[in-house]
Amino acid sequence: MSNAVVNNKIASYDYIIAGAGGAGLSLLHYIMEAPNLASKSILVIDKSFQKTNDRTWCFWDANISAFENLVHHRWNTISIHAEGFDKELSTAPFSYKMIQGIDFYNSVLSKAKSKTNIHFQESTILDITAIDSTNPSKGAKVAWEGGSAVGEYIFSSLLPFQMNQLATAAAYSNSLDSSTDSKNKAPFLWQHFKGRVVQFETPVFNKSIAKLMDFNVPQQGATAFMYQLPLNEKEALVEYTIFSANVLEISEYDKVLDTYLANEFSGMKYSITHQEIGAIPMTQIALASTVAPIYTIGALGAAIKASTGYAFQFIQEQCKNIVTQLEKGFSIQTKVHTTRHQFYDAVLLDILFYHKMEGAEIFKRIFANNEAATVFKFLSNTSTIMEDIQIMRSLPTNIFLPAAIKVLLRRA
Ligand SMILES: Cc1cc2nc3c(=O)[nH]c(=O)nc-3n(C[C@H](O)[C@H](O)[C@H](O)COP(=O)(O)OP(=O)(O)OC[C@H]3O[C@@H](n4cnc5c(N)ncnc54)[C@H](O)[C@@H]3O)c2cc1C
Repeated sequence: MSNAVVNNKIASYDYIIAGAGGAGLSLLHYIMEAPNLASKSILVIDKSFQKTNDRTWCFWDANISAFENLVHHRWNTISIHAEGFDKELSTAPFSYKMIQGIDFYNSVLSKAKSKTNIHFQESTILDITAIDSTNPSKGAKVAWEGGSAVGEYIFSSLLPFQMNQLATAAAYSNSLDSSTDSKNKAPFLWQHFKGRVVQFETPVFNKSIAKLMDFNVPQQGATAFMYQLPLNEKEALVEYTIFSANVLEISEYDKVLDTYLANEFSGMKYSITHQEIGAIPMTQIALASTVAPIYTIGALGAAIKASTGYAFQFIQEQCKNIVTQLEKGFSIQTKVHTTRHQFYDAVLLDILFYHKMEGAEIFKRIFANNEAATVFKFLSNTSTIMEDIQIMRSLPTNIFLPAAIKVLLRRA
């Protein structure tokens, strides 16, 4: 299947990318960067290529990122705040970087549109099925209303909910099986949030410090914090974020944002220039299986770090690895989190989900007792085993140990 051909009206491609969001377009980017794959025929399908600035990606990076030219802002100092606790930390050797969704979408799509081997289909995908489940080399068929295509490899990021629409996340939560033993079920939390880019008339922000977590906000019976990322002295992204089992009504995020901004800036006037909402799944429950020739990527493909909701850097790693495997003709492995880091994520998630310790207390202890660089290595899955142990020692043994044992038993 080296070139797109129309055979009995079904076109065949080497690769079909089902879903052109963060993961689908990252994969496309790395494929376009791989000289060995330049002749592969690729079909990219999404229900809409009319992309908007629907998300802001922030991530830890100690290197030059693949999208360095798109970095909108970066911070080398962060601060953490909780009752009786205020700490500023240098992030070196990491930077906390921000990329705007629209810049990323436009950059990858405009490059892809200039390539003759890359084709686009704007449709809602209805079904993806292997041609012969006993023989992956026969490829799979992707069907949309009024059409279909066959691919040798399919890369899907089609979630059963939309991460930027709270209502679909809530409906998905309701559909989850609640019959399992409630004391032992595997945790599933949402990291749900509403953010506003606010513009003040006079300088109010220190643009070099990202307020990463300010826990001095209503905790909603769970873990909640405000996130304040200044873009300049007058403008910042301010986001109210909660880790809990259920999303809120939009008006509830707005109420907290209004009060916070009024208190923090003593009633000074501001205008809202942009807003975003989201619900990111924090779980190690598989949202879909990956079976050749249909590979799941991105949020669907377990790229999200379950204990923090960070995904962008892990999506990059996952897609880069896939392209290396394609170039070398290796079988495709999409797993991106090491088993060791998954274990720590599971323990932290278990403590949060079963309310064994307040999130504010956990993060406060972790940031109070460790070098910032060690915490960022842990958050980006680049920490050593000794550094992991050091981070975990920030938590009381009577909290950490039972959760660790429970996670190990659940896996046995
Ligand atoms: C508002 C928001 C902010 C975020 N901020 C961060 C952050 O700061 N840092 C971080 O690390 N992570 C962040 N995330 C999490 C994660 O990085 C992103 O959600 C990322 O976009 C996930 O990529 P994805 O490709 O898995 O999903 P998506 O980017 O959502 O892509 C899925 C694509 O599939 C398409 N699609 C879905 N169903 C169909 C269908 N049936 N037919 C055709 N097309 C379909 C959609 O249109 C979409 O383009 C954020 C998420 C959101 C929602």
